[in-house]
Amino acid sequence: MSYDANNIFAKILRGEIPCHKVYEDADAIVFMDVMPQSPGHTLILPKAQSRNLLDADPAVLAKIIPLVQKVAVAAKSAFNADGVSIAQFNETAGGQTVFHLHFHVIPRYEGKPLHIHARSMEEGSVLAANAEKLKAALA
Ligand code: 5GP
Repeated sequence: MSYDANNIFAKILRGEIPCHKVYEDADAIVFMDVMPQSPGHTLILPKAQSRNLLDADPAVLAKIIPLVQKVAVAAKSAFNADGVSIAQFNETAGGQTVFHLHFHVIPRYEGKPLHIHARSMEEGSVLAANAEKLKAALA
């Protein structure tokens, strides 16, 4: 299947719909997931168009992984997490729901299970506060 430029993350990248942005550079954007599986759940997207990992340019992957690491380290600290899960899904059968490549950084806490994937919306004020916390930890 080919890339659909009308997917929700493409619209966020074009500034057509808002997000709680944490970081942006020429190649990538980082923002809060609106349906967090754990407090501080963050998404890292390369700006280059690909549906997912399967059709991504390896050069894009090589640039994005250090940013995923940076955000994971900052999120662990910003949200006082015990650990961090990194997730990345490919195609519907692989659990993917938005078809622009992205990596999930999900803070984890001992003994606490995750909320169900892409199920319940968080308050905007909570997402805004978490974006600020993560920005501070990245600075
Ligand atoms: P996927 O299943 O494709 O790996 O994950 C897509 C993620 O995007 C889900 O965790 C879902 O909560 C999140 N999401 C869906 N729509 C929006 C949106 O409009 N804004 C933001 N910030 N996240 C979204």
